[in-house]
Amino acid sequence: MSTMNTVGRPTAPAPSTPDHDYKHPTLTGGRGLLQDEPLIFEGDGWFKTGVDLAEPKSDGGDLGDLVRRDPIGLPGLSEPEAMRHYVRLSQKNHAIDLALYPLGSCTMKHNPRLNEKMARLPGFSDIHPLQPVSTVQGALELMDTLAHWLKTLTGMPAVAMSPKAGAHGELCGLMAIRAAHEASGEHLKRRKVLVPTSAHGTNPATAAFVGYTVVEVAQTDDGRVDVADLASKLGDDVAAIMVTNPNTCGLFERDIIEIARLTHEAGAYFYCDGANFNAIVGRVRPGDLGVDAMHINLHKTFSTPHGGGGPGAGPVVLSEALAPFAPAPWVVADGDGFKLIERGEDEAAQAFGRMCAFNGQMGMFVRALSYMMSHGSDGLRQVAEDAVLNANYIKARLSDVMSAAFPDGPCMHEALFDDEWLKGTEITTLDFAKAMIDEGFHPMTMYFPLVVHGAMLIEPTETESKAELDRFINALRLLAQAAKAGEVDRFKNAPFHAPLRRLDETRAARSPRLRWSAPEGHNMAAE
Ligand SMILES: *Cc1c(COP(=O)(O)O)cnc(C)c1O
Repeated sequence: MSTMNTVGRPTAPAPSTPDHDYKHPTLTGGRGLLQDEPLIFEGDGWFKTGVDLAEPKSDGGDLGDLVRRDPIGLPGLSEPEAMRHYVRLSQKNHAIDLALYPLGSCTMKHNPRLNEKMARLPGFSDIHPLQPVSTVQGALELMDTLAHWLKTLTGMPAVAMSPKAGAHGELCGLMAIRAAHEASGEHLKRRKVLVPTSAHGTNPATAAFVGYTVVEVAQTDDGRVDVADLASKLGDDVAAIMVTNPNTCGLFERDIIEIARLTHEAGAYFYCDGANFNAIVGRVRPGDLGVDAMHINLHKTFSTPHGGGGPGAGPVVLSEALAPFAPAPWVVADGDGFKLIERGEDEAAQAFGRMCAFNGQMGMFVRALSYMMSHGSDGLRQVAEDAVLNANYIKARLSDVMSAAFPDGPCMHEALFDDEWLKGTEITTLDFAKAMIDEGFHPMTMYFPLVVHGAMLIEPTETESKAELDRFINALRLLAQAAKAGEVDRFKNAPFHAPLRRLDETRAARSPRLRWSAPEGHNMAAE
C-alpha cells in the first residue's frame, strides 16, 4: 500500500515492495510518458517569479497599516512550468474524451463540440443577469424555447428552470409539493414521503431536508417497486412518493400507472426522479404516466458536461396541480417580447419562493438546446433506443462470466451485475473495479443500488460505438477469467499502474485533509 509522506500525499510506489511488483514496476512512479507530478507547493519555486514587473513607484505609504509585511506563500513558476504542471495534472484526470465512462446512474455521454461553440457565442456568454431584459431578449427566448421542448418531451404543462442540479431539482419539486399541501390545509397531517429501497441517496436526503419523515417501500424479487407494500403505506399522512423510472436497477417500472393512480387516490403527489430519462427520451412522456414533478439532469440526458458539483442544471417539470407553486423567476412572452416573472404577485402569487439568486445555468441551457436541435425528435428517440441497445449488448456479452442481478428479460439503459460470480475467489467488487483501472478503464458504479449485493452498475450510453463496447467487454471478460483462475494478486492491491495506487477511500471521506500545510523545514519564504 502507499504510505503517506509528510505533506499528506501518498508517495510514489517504492520500487522493491512486493505488492506492486505485479507486471511492470517503474523506478520513478512515472508510467509510460506520464510523469509523477508533485503538488505545486512541493516544488522549489518559492524564490522565483514567472513575470518581470518594474518596481512599484509608490512605497505603499498611502496604504497605512494595510501594507503587506509577510510573503503570501505562493509558488513562483515560469509559464512553461505552470503549463506543464496543469497539463500533467489533467492527464491524471479521467475524462469522457479519453474513454468510455461506464458509471451507472450518471449517463456520462459524449459532450458534442457544437454545444460548446454555441455556449461561447458572446450574446450568451458575455451577458449579466442584472442587465435590463430589453438587452437580453435572445437569451430569454432561448430559455423559453428550451422550456417549451422540456415540457413537450415530458408531456408536462410547466417547468421550473432555475434548479442547478438533479438534487436541487428534487428540493424544488418537494418544496412545490409542500406548498401545494400548505395551500390545501393538509400540510400538518401529511408528514411522510415514501421512497423505494433502491432509490438514489439524494431522494431520502431531500425528503428529510424538507422536513418529511422518510418511509421505505419494499422491492420485489424482480427489482421493481412492491405495489402491495406501497399501497399498504399510502394514506392521508403521506405527502408524496419519490420513484425513479427507469429505476436504479436499470428496469422500467411496469406498474407505474397503477403507482400513480394509488398515489393520487391517497391525496399524495408523485415525484419522479428523472435522472434516467435518457433511457426513455423521445419514447415515453412522464406526464402520460401520472407524474406530478420530475427533475431532468441536463448533464445526463442532454449532454451538458458534468461538473464536480459545479455548473449543472436540473429543471423540474410540474403537473397542472403543482404549476402554480413553481419558484420564480420564469420567462413569459407577450406582444412586447420576453420578460421575467420575478415577484410573488399576480400570476406568481403562489410561487413558493426562489431556488437561486438569478435564472439558472445559462451556459447549460444553451448546450442542452443545441443538443436537442441538432438531434431533432427522431434523433432523440434514437438516443433512448441506442442507449438501451448498448446496455443490453453488454449484459448479453458478460452474463456468461459475470452474474446479472436480474437475469430475466432485457434491461433498460444500464446493465446491473452482482458479486455472486466472485464467490470463493477472495476478490470483491472493489478489487475488481480497481483492476479495471490497470486495464485503462474507469470503473463502473459500485455497491449501488444498495439492494443488490456487491452491485456493479454499467451504463454505456448511446455514444459508444460497437468497437468501443467490444474493447470494454473484452477487458472485463479477461479480468473475470483471471479472477476465476485465482489470480488474486492482480486484484488485491490494484491499481498497480495508476500514479497513486489504491487510496484509503474511507479515510479520505471521514477525515479529508482540505488544506496543504508546509512540512517541517519547507522554505516558503517566497518573494
Ligand atoms: C444523478 C442522480 C441524482 C442526482 O442528480 P445530480 O444532478 O447529481 O444532483 C438523483 N437521482 C439519481 C437516480 C441519479 O442518478
